[in-house]
Amino acid sequence: MTTYQVIPPGRTIGILGGGQLGKMMAMSAKQMGYRVIVLDPASDCPCAQVCDEIIAAAYDDRAAAKKLVERSDVITYEFENVDLDVARYIEEAGYLPQTSKLLAITQNRLNEKESLTQAGLKVAPYKKVVSKESLTEAVQALGLPAVLKTVQGGYDGKGQLVIRTEAELEEAYDWLDEERVYVLEQWVRFTKELSVMVVRHPSGEIKTFPVAENTHRNNILHQSTIPASVSQEIAAKAEQAARTIAQDMSLVGALGVEMFLTEEDEVFVNELAPRPHNSGHYTIEACEFSQFEQHIRAICSLPLGHINLFKPAVMVNILGQHLHGVLQALPTWKHAHLHLYGKDEAKMNRKMGHITILTEDIDQTLNDLDQTKIWLD
Ligand code: AMP
Repeated sequence: MTTYQVIPPGRTIGILGGGQLGKMMAMSAKQMGYRVIVLDPASDCPCAQVCDEIIAAAYDDRAAAKKLVERSDVITYEFENVDLDVARYIEEAGYLPQTSKLLAITQNRLNEKESLTQAGLKVAPYKKVVSKESLTEAVQALGLPAVLKTVQGGYDGKGQLVIRTEAELEEAYDWLDEERVYVLEQWVRFTKELSVMVVRHPSGEIKTFPVAENTHRNNILHQSTIPASVSQEIAAKAEQAARTIAQDMSLVGALGVEMFLTEEDEVFVNELAPRPHNSGHYTIEACEFSQFEQHIRAICSLPLGHINLFKPAVMVNILGQHLHGVLQALPTWKHAHLHLYGKDEAKMNRKMGHITILTEDIDQTLNDLDQTKIWLD
């Protein structure tokens, strides 16, 4: 039988990583009366605006991790590229209900794909690539187009190269760093990209949020619309995939499952995020309990809240290049919930914030947003 600790409000939640996800987790935790301490290399990280205490140190700083353990009753991570050894140490010395095992799976695309396949889920056909020769073999086996991804450390399209033609394959040979490990994935001719946020309580109870339909630009999430415009059967398939993953990986907390829907109505799992996810931000306004609140409840072993969608929703990311336009248009927007993460430099493609609009007519809302021309890039 699983043993788990109930962490009541008043106790301290430690968060590894102080980005926007950490900030929104901390806001839910603070609302519920927890103390929050965050470990992040930057003392002015987004989470620093709302937490009680910050330990500004590198993620592989063992002394800093020890301090976090000593001061926290429960620890959670808000992104998957934290140092695995440190996560293992925290698990030994403190309480990390999300587990380091889930990190070890999701930090490495090959491990992730193997685990998904073992759980009976479909992923795009793939091959491991460690050299130019193995890239040639992988292309022969999978055909083109395909996408070459670093096995570790990539996010938001970083560390990825799409190979469509022989000429691009030549470029890929030059791009490849034989010190690293890659995975070549067959290009999936998807009709839609979907995602499901799933949350699991340590007792084994699992809940899924409504399926989101996502659009990416330059491999970065641009917009999510909820509910996805798919049949009930497909929504059920996507939700079931997320449940299977949560169960199979003994998830505790929230996890995002990104998926491709194929022309044959098959669901392929693309990627897992073992924490709240950008495509689940809509839950803050559109659902009775947000992904962040559910995550905090799960890691503190409080009962999971109901999941219901108040209204369909549109969520659009605000990247560095969109910020100026958003701020200019803001005085005329009545219905957009604005979230800015408090990052000072509005760099190109940096996630600065997002808006969520609850709407009865998703197409009309998307049309209205197009008219603003803010997201034309
Ligand atoms: P990822 O970093 O794996 O989440 O990929 C970012 C985005 O690139 C995805 O959301 C897709 O839009 C696209 N992409 C990645 N892998 C594939 C693939 N095998 N087939 C088609 N599109 C892909």
